[in-house]
Amino acid sequence: MRCPFCHHSEDRVVDSRASREGRAVRRRRECLRCDRRFTTYEYIEERPLQVVKRDSETEPYDRRKLLRSIQIACAKRPVSPTEIDSMVEDIERVLDRQDASEVPSGILGHMVMERLKTRDHTSTCHPPIPFSLRSSWASWWAFCLPRPW
Ligand SMILES: [Zn+2]
Repeated sequence: MRCPFCHHSEDRVVDSRASREGRAVRRRRECLRCDRRFTTYEYIEERPLQVVKRDSETEPYDRRKLLRSIQIACAKRPVSPTEIDSMVEDIERVLDRQDASEVPSGILGHMVMERLKTRDHTSTCHPPIPFSLRSSWASWWAFCLPRPW
């Protein structure tokens, strides 16, 4: 990193710590020529995922919106906030792995349904989903899950 004072390109890191809730690393550096100190930040390069809505408009993916819609859908179900959180995390992991820049909102809904479905099959205390809805997961998404996009 080039020193902002003397433009020398060699330095040593004197301190390194996580900041901004672990989303950045802050480093204190000391120039090897002039001994002055400066700070650099290292961030993960963020490529905002775009959600393609039903009307073909796109909107940046917003984790809070997805969380909110699952929370509303699960309002009367015994699904803990932690489970909802991990569902969203899992979905984000899959999207990350696919390295997609866009995702249709319907696919997002499908991913949520898949996870709720798996959960329902393994849960014993949960009331069964009505057959009419089970027959068509697309309509379940349309009627039960408030679509954030
Ligand atoms: Zn310097």
